[in-house]
Amino acid sequence: MKVDLHSHSTCSDGLLSPVDLVERAVQRGVDMLALTDHDELAGLGAAHAAAEQWGLRLIDGVEISVQWEATTLHIVGLGIGIAHVPLIEGLAAIRTGREQRAQRIAESLTAAGIAGSLEGARRYAKNPELVSRAHFARYLVETGHARDTNAVFRNYLTPGKPGYVSHQWAGLGDALHWINGSGGVAVLAHPGRYPLNQQQCERLLGEFVGLGGVAVEVVTGSHAPDEFVTWARYARRFGLRASAGSDFHGPGEGYRDVGNVPVLPAGCDPVWSVF
Ligand code: AMP
Ligand code: MN
Ligand code: MN
Ligand code: MN
Repeated sequence: MKVDLHSHSTCSDGLLSPVDLVERAVQRGVDMLALTDHDELAGLGAAHAAAEQWGLRLIDGVEISVQWEATTLHIVGLGIGIAHVPLIEGLAAIRTGREQRAQRIAESLTAAGIAGSLEGARRYAKNPELVSRAHFARYLVETGHARDTNAVFRNYLTPGKPGYVSHQWAGLGDALHWINGSGGVAVLAHPGRYPLNQQQCERLLGEFVGLGGVAVEVVTGSHAPDEFVTWARYARRFGLRASAGSDFHGPGEGYRDVGNVPVLPAGCDPVWSVF
């Protein structure tokens, strides 16, 4: 069975509409797909309708932006209840915060001599409530400040670089409370991407388990193969299940296409066996 439990549509910072994403997943032989837009559930209805038509198993998902100590984390919720009011209201509050952050990002880029970025980013954001750094990155590529979006993030939009601003996202406890309260399972997304040492990772995983977290992404487009093994070990140590997803944003962006998800290392308990 081909499983991909992390993907984005134009309802956040993906390049394909929910329907086009589902059709691409079907063409690429995916059996089970989770749509996990950043801080937004709006794509799930259309994705479901398309998935039903094609016989694809669609898992309702979301990727929630969280501030934990000094680090921004992403928590994926899978099998969430999309009518759960605290989840809906919590995500709406995060999207409001994104609007204010986008203005501050643009001010920071203006100070670095890059004009018009708020309007530029907004042109790429099909969902006006969801302006992401990925939209700013596309504008910076368009205006010749970098060759591709990966190059943008090396020189802009990341800590210490022009266009980076700190931001207060949801609390880790809030995100877990919304996901669990809705009947979903919480997954720590792409853990290898965070600037945390081993001791900090252990503290995070301990806290995550204590708050009712269920799984970590072992296989993700953000991990190199040796990190699959590292995070499979962490999962076992902390009694967590393992998830796997491409984190697909669009053709030609990022490393992995939808459905291009290597198998989990031996000894993992796949999170999808709970669905
Ligand atoms: P935001 O949630 O607005 O802070 O934007 C985060 C998004 O920016 C991620 O979900 C990716 O789509 C994109 N992103 C972050 N870091 C990188 C990177 N190093 N290379 C490419 N895209 C990135
Ligand atoms: Mn993204
Ligand atoms: Mn993420
Ligand atoms: Mn993602």
